[in-house]
Order: sequence, then structure tokens, then C-alpha cells
Amino acid sequence: MAAFQYFKQNLYKSAQLIGLTEVELKAFETPDRVLRANLTIPLDAGGTATFPAYRVQFNNARGPYKGGIRFHPGADEDEVSALAAMMAVKCAVVGIPLGGAKGGVAVDPKKLSQKEIHELARAYVRAFAEHLGPHIDIPAPDVYTTPEIMAVMLDEYERIVGKSLPAMITGKPLAVGGSAGRDTATADGAVAVLAALLEDRSSDASKLSAAVQGAGNAGAQAARLLQTMGAKVVAFADSKGTLVHEDGLDIGSVLAEKERSGSVLAAARDGAHSAGADAVLTAAADILVPAALEEQITGANAASVKAHTILEIANGPVTPEADDRLQEQGVTVIPDVLANAGGVTVSYFEWVQGHTGERWSHADVEMKLQATMRNAYREVADFARERGVTLRQAAYSLALTRISEAMKVRGRM
Ligand code: GLU
Repeated sequence: MAAFQYFKQNLYKSAQLIGLTEVELKAFETPDRVLRANLTIPLDAGGTATFPAYRVQFNNARGPYKGGIRFHPGADEDEVSALAAMMAVKCAVVGIPLGGAKGGVAVDPKKLSQKEIHELARAYVRAFAEHLGPHIDIPAPDVYTTPEIMAVMLDEYERIVGKSLPAMITGKPLAVGGSAGRDTATADGAVAVLAALLEDRSSDASKLSAAVQGAGNAGAQAARLLQTMGAKVVAFADSKGTLVHEDGLDIGSVLAEKERSGSVLAAARDGAHSAGADAVLTAAADILVPAALEEQITGANAASVKAHTILEIANGPVTPEADDRLQEQGVTVIPDVLANAGGVTVSYFEWVQGHTGERWSHADVEMKLQATMRNAYREVADFARERGVTLRQAAYSLALTRISEAMKVRGRM
């Protein structure tokens, strides 16, 4: 795992493009603050367990630190730092006034009861409370954390500070000040960007096929939307395997089957068959949508990718080595820092609502999200075309320019 190294490689490519100085580059390579704690929780069976936890506050030049918390066995300082840096980039790409942070607990939440997960959520907030807050650092869900966990974190935080502060965390359930549209925002935003790109190419979605990796919140919604756009979803994978149907799967019934049995593979009938978990990455489809974890498309399998367009809903699913190969193969990669920024965009809307006490309608949120994502795509695509670079280099270049401008006007560099 070399997540931070990957971030630096993306950083260097764009730093050259926009002519960042050594001093400026140094500022982008170094997180503002790395917080660590060991979280000890009581176990249902008696005794206790301890898990390493992190919060990395990368950069707050454009606004308070912002980013999710993941509960995943692979979470460590390197990974959380890379993801924190990517949050700063992401917020700058879509032009929302927030900085970048990320949190993680090295734990397998599938081995914990709901009560133990709640204990862990409260312990996390107790450990880092003085560094969190609506004007300091605002967490949100990420891999294996949910709106319900956000509600528990809010509860613990408000107990500590003794007042109601709903804007201290986003991705909350509607019942405690969550925003309409936040649950589907990541996929909604990603598909809005894809639609804008297809319009640029005068390409008709109903003539395209897609392969989606991940049947969690983002992957499931992406698959639904692709089908609604008229695309054929020919491969759909969860961690157990890939469900394949050359004529296109009926996503609604596959998801209903997954709900019942725990895997998309249970829908393997009527022409749909199952294949290995990695088969989705090299499926014969025009569009590949990695919506699970990082480092899925690597130097080892990039040459076997058949899609001409990759929509990165996960953070970091394509390694830099694979990125170079895909560019040579003529594959367009819509980078994570643009493609999945819809999540934090609606988090921003939720934060604004948390401050003002307003409740925006679903239609309002959706309209604002579409406008934000299409505008960001336009800026990134225009930069890429004018400078003859990839969408990732363009997105990083625009973001770095915006962050360094904020740092300069603040007199930080
Ligand atoms: N965890 C999501 C991401 O990686 C959302 C972050 C947020 O809403 O703050 O973009």
C-alpha cells in the first residue's frame, strides 16, 4: 500500500504543468496535522478491544477541514493522509469552500456488533473532539461507516460541548438534520459528470454498455442510474463475485436479490451467470465504474481493460502506473477527485443547512448538485483540452491553483 506515494505522483505531474515552486510543492506534500489515538471499547462478550485511529487534517486554506471517517482493517496513517489530501483537491475541483481531512479506524466492523460499533464511534469522537467542530473539521461517512454512525458521533460531540451543533458532521440521517439527496449524492454526481462527457462526445448512452464494481451505496445507485440512462449494465460485482449478462442485467431485481441473500450472485439465472470478483474489471463494456476500494486497476491488469471510459467512483481505484498505461491505450479516466465529489458537495449543502436551519427540498439539492458537477466537469475538460493533458492532470492543476491562491492571499506562502 503506497497511497500517499500515489497522491504525490499525481501532485508532481500537475505541479510541473502549472509551474509550482519548490516551496509551494512542499506545502502540498505535508499535512497540517496528523492525529492518532488508540480507541478501547468494551466488548459484548466481556473484556475490551483496542483499535488504532487516525484523523489527518491536510489543508484548510479554502475552508474548514472536511472528509469522511472509514472503519476498515487497511486504514493506516499513509492511506488516511492520502485520502485527506485528495479531499482538499476534491473540494477545490468543485469549488466548495472547504479544506481536506480524513479519518480512519483500523478495524473490521463486520466482526463487531452494532453496540460495539456505536462504542467505537463515541470513542473516536471523545479522542478527537477538541479538533472537530463546524468551523474546524467536519467528518462524514466513508467506507463502512453509515448515516446512523454519524448520528451517534453527533450525539457524543454534543454531549461533550453541551449544545446542539448539527453542522459538526455531515451524511447524517434526515431525522437529525441530514440533507435530502445526501445518500445518493456520490453516484448522482458521478453520473452527471459522465452524462456531460457523453454529451461532449455526442455519444448516446442507450448504445453503451457498462460494468460496475461495487454494490454498496454508490455502486448500486450508479448501476440504477446507468440503466435509467438506457445503458446496458453487462457486469455488476460485489466482493463475492461478478454477475454477467451480455444483454444487460435488470438492476432492480439484482439489487432486490442481493438484499434478500447478501450477494448479487444470487441473481445468476435467466441468462445471467457468475464469474470471479475481478472479472468485472476486464468485462467487455464501454464504461467501467469502479465503485468499491482503491488499487483495483494496476500495472498488472490495465492492458486487459476493454472499456474506453472509466468513471472512478471509489477513491484511488486506478494506480499511477495503470493510469499511464490506460492513457497510452486511449482510455479516458474520469478521476475520483472530480467523479466522486458529489458526496462532499451535498455534504457542503448539508453543512450550510446545518448553519442556517433551512431544509432544502430533494429537487433543490439535485438541481444544485447537477449544476456544481457539470460546471466542474466543464472547467476540467476545457483545461485538459487546451493543455493536451488527462482529466486527472487537469483536475489536480485547477485544484492546486485554487488552493495555492488561498494560501497566498492568507500570507501562508
Ligand atoms: N467520504 C466521502 C468522500 O470520500 C465524502 C466526504 C464528505 O462528505 O465529507 O468524498
